[in-house]
Amino acid sequence: MNVPLSQPDISKREIEYVVRTLRSGRLSLGPRVTEFEEKFANYVGRRHAVAVSSGTAALHLCVRALDIGPGDAVLTTSFSFVASANCLLYERALPVFLDIHPLTLNLDPAEIAAYLQQGCTRRADGRVVDKSSGRAVKGILPVHVFGLPCDMDPIRELADEYGLWLIEDACEALGAEYRGRRVGTFGDVAAFAFYPNKQMTTAEGGMIVTDDPRIADLCRSMRNQGRDPGADGPFHARLGFNYRLSDLHCALGLAQLERLDELLHRREQVAALYRSHLAGHPWLLLPQTPAGCTRSWFVYVVQIAAAPAHAAEQVRARLLRALRARGIGCQIYFPAIHQQSYFQQSTQSLVRPLPRTESASARSLALPFFTQATADEIRYVCDTLLETLQGEVANTRAQDMVPR
Ligand SMILES: *Cc1c(COP(=O)(O)O)cnc(C)c1O
Repeated sequence: MNVPLSQPDISKREIEYVVRTLRSGRLSLGPRVTEFEEKFANYVGRRHAVAVSSGTAALHLCVRALDIGPGDAVLTTSFSFVASANCLLYERALPVFLDIHPLTLNLDPAEIAAYLQQGCTRRADGRVVDKSSGRAVKGILPVHVFGLPCDMDPIRELADEYGLWLIEDACEALGAEYRGRRVGTFGDVAAFAFYPNKQMTTAEGGMIVTDDPRIADLCRSMRNQGRDPGADGPFHARLGFNYRLSDLHCALGLAQLERLDELLHRREQVAALYRSHLAGHPWLLLPQTPAGCTRSWFVYVVQIAAAPAHAAEQVRARLLRALRARGIGCQIYFPAIHQQSYFQQSTQSLVRPLPRTESASARSLALPFFTQATADEIRYVCDTLLETLQGEVANTRAQDMVPR
């Protein structure tokens, strides 16, 4: 049996909407863009939405719109997809990686508080500065990892107390809720993404959401080469980019957005199938969802819950090989950003110890996850995984592999 790691869910509606737009003659900067933005803003619960060419472009424009620039420090997580740190590097700003909570795998507010209280000083003008480097701390960029909302109340409070911008990377968490409120509504700005493995897709695409009309206008201008919106003709008020999203992509997005409840519900059912097969195994730590949070299922990542981390990493390598040999798509997810080779070649971040991030990164294994996965496919994946793990348990001396 072949089970892919992920797969988009495209129905007749998506095809119809895209074909209708193809026939309309308006392929970019047309009515589908505005319609998609309005409906998306409405779904998330924010005043403005700006469609762009990718989630990475969305994050980049958020950083620029908040005037975060060369040498500025931004507090974020290394347990993420590289885009959430790269958007800072593009502007020569510095990510300050803080450690995650071991169960949620999200940025730990206690680590943010400890860093701001002990690692920073407040200058006379009120600005917060990193003690060791003298860099101005400008913002916090939490990532809702694997569709689980970060603990946003304390993070929002810290941002307010220290006068920092709050940028939510919600690229993995469309539809997730924290204390009854959708993610994307907590930050000054938030970014979403529509790559084909996300909860909804536009093939490639992203969205910025905010309540601030000035930020929305700035992002709209920057995605279109810095075009001056009031001018008659190609007059450019600032340096911009071509980060536009075409009407074809937005037509696809409109169909997916109309089906989003159905798509999210189906993903939840697939996650429940995994839970029913895998729960209780002493070597597997399944995704945890704390009280007060509704996860929007993005991927299904299990952690090899054995100590020490290097032993878990070796077990994971053998599991990857065994699963792939039997036609099952799986992946290491995430390798920590600060351990990526391009990050190690130069000091692009303020270096701090990240034991929990490194541990999670050594243990995490993503299994096939998509709306159309059948009960048989999930059973096949789980049977293969459990069988391979049984072999591992049998081959391991107890003292090398105690459950965490
Ligand atoms: C998918 C994703 C992005 C954006 O990715 P694009 O491929 O540029 O759309 C950003 N951050 C995280 C955490 C993501 O998972």
